[in-house]
Amino acid sequence: MTKYVFVTGGVVSGLGKGITASSLALLLKSRGYKVFMQKFDPYFNVDPGTMNPIQHGEVFVTYDGCETDLDLGHYERFIDEELNYTSNITSGKIYSSVIEKERHGDYLGATVQLVPHITNEIKNKVYEAGITSKADIVITEIGGTVGDIESQAFIETLRQIQYEKGPNETVFVHTTLIPFIVGSNELKTKPTQNSVKDLQNMGIRPNFLVCRTPFSTPDSLKEKLSLFCSIPKENIIDCVDTNNIYEIPLSFHSQNIDELILKQFNLKIKKANLKYLEDLITTMNSLNNEIEIALVGKYTSLHDAYLSVSEALKHAGYKYHTKININYIDSESLEKENVNLKDIFKNSKGIIVPGGFGNRGTSGMIKAINYARVNNIPFLGICLGMQLAVIEFANNVCNIEDANSTEFNPLCKNPVIDLMSNQKSVINMGGTLRLGNYDCNILNNTLASHAYNEELIKERHRHRYEFNNKYKELLESKGMIFSGINLDANLVEIIEIPTHKHFIACQFHPEFKSRPTRPHPLFDSLIKASIKEL
Ligand code: GLN
Repeated sequence: MTKYVFVTGGVVSGLGKGITASSLALLLKSRGYKVFMQKFDPYFNVDPGTMNPIQHGEVFVTYDGCETDLDLGHYERFIDEELNYTSNITSGKIYSSVIEKERHGDYLGATVQLVPHITNEIKNKVYEAGITSKADIVITEIGGTVGDIESQAFIETLRQIQYEKGPNETVFVHTTLIPFIVGSNELKTKPTQNSVKDLQNMGIRPNFLVCRTPFSTPDSLKEKLSLFCSIPKENIIDCVDTNNIYEIPLSFHSQNIDELILKQFNLKIKKANLKYLEDLITTMNSLNNEIEIALVGKYTSLHDAYLSVSEALKHAGYKYHTKININYIDSESLEKENVNLKDIFKNSKGIIVPGGFGNRGTSGMIKAINYARVNNIPFLGICLGMQLAVIEFANNVCNIEDANSTEFNPLCKNPVIDLMSNQKSVINMGGTLRLGNYDCNILNNTLASHAYNEELIKERHRHRYEFNNKYKELLESKGMIFSGINLDANLVEIIEIPTHKHFIACQFHPEFKSRPTRPHPLFDSLIKASIKEL
């Protein structure tokens, strides 16, 4: 029987609820339990796929092609489990499904209401995650802050679940803020008390409090909170500000929250295996080298738009005991006439051009790619980055002046990158985007084969346009190789220039599969080559 942990947030947003939920999941997994994670987002977008990355950060993609909130990336990196379409549920998804059922006549003439129809739909999503994942414990994070109008339907559903399942099958963890008042030099509990009251008013009694605080809270403060919130003192956990989020699970563990949760669930207390995490933190704290990598993109005004890319770079850095300083470069800034690229890239040992949509900023990215190619600077192109690397090569090496993607010039005469639907490949995309895992065969004796050391890989996609096979021979004759192919539909997935020190680009998003203890092969390969540059 699956048990459920619900993580809510109070007082302010941005408390690190996602990290709390991931840390709990990591700890329960480390004690030998199968865990699964899920996030409820109160907004009405059916999924975050259409949301502006500059406002909302990156869209994370699961192996089964679900476009999700970036928190799912934290989850996967923390618990090292692949999540799926049951892991990210928005209000938009819930309401559209209820309305669809109503139109279909599924409610047999009943008046369709928030309670029970919407709440049942949410409840089903919680239980579906438990059933399909066969996890011992599902951890569900509720986006937003308790008291928000938008999240009320979710909170009401949790109340029903707490009542239905009881305290041995549900645990409620409420994350709050303990502010420090400068001047009177005091930590304050009132906002937490009020937020717990808000939750109690909605019928939920939290079992644990995770208090974000600038430093450890004294016993007296916990006693006060315990009294006012009806929560045992030992169930009140500090989440002390830290620069390294991977230290949080260890701090929680030292405060015993994992054991207390298992006790409430009547589950066996197995020993926690956290040695790998301690080793990782030792590595992170003892990096003895540093390099700069330039990331040239169109959403650089919000670094979260490239969260998984920056994490993947860091992971590869850990392997080589090297701190990676990312130089975020707005690609539009490279488009000016007499911009001095040499100066801009003077400290960059490697260049990345990541994914993106739309024409804005692409000619700046092409300039950066050209600079990397001509100056033999280690390069990795991701998705849009691969498409632009092909266009740059077709323009400047094959002299096809008007080579372009039909995304940027629908009428171009030489569409080296073209809409999948215009090409002859047969592939079931299940929508307009190629999303989620696709097979890729790796050609022997290439940069890709050295990086992966495997013949068949699976990587996650999110794009509409593809390399146009009509141009394959021509580009090959000029020195580009196609080292990764999806054989089912004959699609180019990886390109390289073998005469270059490290020039590789892929149609998929390798960043989603990188883990702190297992850097992704393509990031590993880029960082290795970039370190050699030192
Ligand atoms: N805009 C390109 C496409 O749709 C690339 C997408 C991406 O980089 N994720 O094919």
